Amino acid sequence: YLHWRATRTCLTKTTITERRNAGILPSLEDLLFYTIAEGQEKIPAHKFIAALKTTGLRTGDPRLKECMATLKETLKNTSDGVMLDRHLFKKCVQSNIVLLTQAFRKKFVIPDFPTFASHIDELYESAKKLDEGQVADYIPQLAKFNPDLWAVSLCTVDGQRHTVGDTKVPFCLQSCVKPLKYAIAVHDHGTDYVHSFIGKEPSGLRFNKLFLDEEDKPHNPMVNAGAIVCTSLIKVNTTYALLSFPMSFVCRFQSERESGDRNFAIGYYLKEKKCFPEGTDMTSILDFYFQLCSIEVTCESASVMAATLANGGFCPITGERVLSPESVRDTLSLMHSCGMYDFSGQFAFHVGLPAKSGVAGGILLVVPNVMGIMCWSPPLDKLGNSVRGIQFCTDLVELFNFHNYDNLRHFAKKHDPRREGGDQRVKSVINLLFAAYTGDVSALRRFALSSIDMEQRDYDSRTALHVAAAEGHGEVVRFLLEACKVNPVPKDRWGNTPMEEALHFGHHDVVTILKDFHEKYNPIASDTNAKESAEKNLDGLL
Ligand code: GLU
Repeated sequence: YLHWRATRTCLTKTTITERRNAGILPSLEDLLFYTIAEGQEKIPAHKFIAALKTTGLRTGDPRLKECMATLKETLKNTSDGVMLDRHLFKKCVQSNIVLLTQAFRKKFVIPDFPTFASHIDELYESAKKLDEGQVADYIPQLAKFNPDLWAVSLCTVDGQRHTVGDTKVPFCLQSCVKPLKYAIAVHDHGTDYVHSFIGKEPSGLRFNKLFLDEEDKPHNPMVNAGAIVCTSLIKVNTTYALLSFPMSFVCRFQSERESGDRNFAIGYYLKEKKCFPEGTDMTSILDFYFQLCSIEVTCESASVMAATLANGGFCPITGERVLSPESVRDTLSLMHSCGMYDFSGQFAFHVGLPAKSGVAGGILLVVPNVMGIMCWSPPLDKLGNSVRGIQFCTDLVELFNFHNYDNLRHFAKKHDPRREGGDQRVKSVINLLFAAYTGDVSALRRFALSSIDMEQRDYDSRTALHVAAAEGHGEVVRFLLEACKVNPVPKDRWGNTPMEEALHFGHHDVVTILKDFHEKYNPIASDTNAKESAEKNLDGLL
């Protein structure tokens, strides 16, 4: 007990980091070792990798490059090739210790990642059963896709990844590229300039209609006319540089170009109506438009693009700033109102999240500040959206509170995977005892007002009253006894009561307060029914 007090006093004099560096406290690497080793002397490498995966991190994550390289090297040189003792483990993890500690402390946006991932798998399986819809055939390359293909990948803003199904099969972004190039245009030129050429309204018409708004501007950047004008605002080199960050893409745009009559018609119409910036070469812009539609991604790589939008323009796994937060905000707004062809209003109503679909069967879905998701399945419904993708998005929001308005006050609660882990109680005890330790009565008043249990005990069964009595904080003792009606005689693990604490540390004022209280409300000896009796006594007084 005295050791406990001594340690605590020390803590106030030097910082935790100083003590850690001086070897007084275990290092973060040691603590991580103990967490994963679970009492064993050595950690098998596969156990470390498995534990890592449960956090949602991937071994291929660029942020863990050094750790993985050292691990590989270390295993080559160990006698059994698999086991890591504390020293070897430390060597492997030290370069990426900050990220690893964050992961194992469950500090990521989805703390219980395995449970969340298994929910995603269930939603995936249920949408898999659907067999309606037609694979688009107006572009020959698209018509070749097997209708059974179905994939979902997600990446959170902390770079936690999960994928299920045909997530490594390449397909083209098609219209899913529209929000990305709009974001690049706004990133490069600002909102006002871009919208001097393009509107912000849903068109209420098919995406490839030859039609402009009252000001002779395309309705928005998510329909073909708007996307073609948007293409004239961005530069080829910077666009490829920005878009290629998480993916390897191949442009096979010939097929697209050869079936692009409608887009040529839109191009000429836009030219006639002077919709492009001066000096634009319309046919080369169309070529660029076809190339961008034909960018090949996999579900996995595209989920990182979606996650970059969810993360305000920073790529979660490289930390690179790809887009300005302003351009991402504008993009999400227009995805929300115009991203899902003629289903946009219904999607905004039922799913309440920004998304963009494409004719190859992709749906790029963004849960702002949480994650990006890419769904892909070629069969499309009548409005041009992936049948399985729509089902998945709807089910996702049915289960989790991701809809933009799910968090409205008084709303029926759905699952919140973002909820804090099980540390809540620990934090509350610590805050309570700390306030008692420092004599912070106003903090204690706030806790009581928030209906926090003022009798909570720590590992040593110590209560706020024990701590306040031992530290000599009379006002706190009085508040706990009289206002909070806490049990006046709780026993800690050594059998000590607050009175014994006050006597032991010579706080005579506190001794008097406790004595007066006992006398006023009769001495109460039993630890278990003490509070009840105290309450009765007080009730009698009122
Ligand atoms: N390549 C398509 C077109 O412009 C893109 C359409 C889409 O995915 O909606 O016709």
